[in-house]
Amino acid sequence: MVEVGLCMIQGARHAHIRALDSAAEYLNCPLVIHELRTREDVIKTPCDAYVLPGGESTVMRLTGGLEEQGGSGLLPALFERLRHTDATVLGTCAGAILLCDPQDGGQPLIPATIDRNAYGRQVDSFQSIIDAPLLSRSFPGVFIRAPRFESLSVGAKVAANNGDEPVGVISGRRLALTFHPELTEDFGFHIWLLNTAMGPIESFSSVESEA
Ligand code: GLN
Repeated sequence: MVEVGLCMIQGARHAHIRALDSAAEYLNCPLVIHELRTREDVIKTPCDAYVLPGGESTVMRLTGGLEEQGGSGLLPALFERLRHTDATVLGTCAGAILLCDPQDGGQPLIPATIDRNAYGRQVDSFQSIIDAPLLSRSFPGVFIRAPRFESLSVGAKVAANNGDEPVGVISGRRLALTFHPELTEDFGFHIWLLNTAMGPIESFSSVESEA
């Protein structure tokens, strides 16, 4: 059985639930999804894997930030949990921004820098068939006011490319995607999440562009 903690701050949470359910069905793997809303939820519900959906990272930082600043405390508690365990995590779009730049005084959870809204405004959102070396195949990329990776540090590997540009970065069991796999009918990255959470870490070395 895999227990997945889903951050319920913002974004396409229900699309992630559907994708996780489909991935679990495909893998024939019992799945429990815990909806995480507060610091207490994170503390009392240790999970094998976590999903940080997209949304607006500035809003997510406020509503999910420190309790003494009026937030739910969810994000700092989750970042601490991720730093102290080897839980698997998938961050999509704004979720990727938070993993690369947690702004909680601790180390980045994925050693890469990322630039918000780097393609422009909402009207500059686009779709593109991307290459996903992590899945060893192509993938339908849905980019909504997406961020862009600026640089990758040691330990970060490219998991997906749009042309020459990295749009997915992996570091151990942590994966940041600047697009929205949950908004497609392809559950490959959610299958990766459940598989990785269930098994020993697979060394992923099919990519050259490691910094
Ligand atoms: N533009 C958003 C941000 O900066 C991310 C958009 C998304 O998650 N689709 O946080």
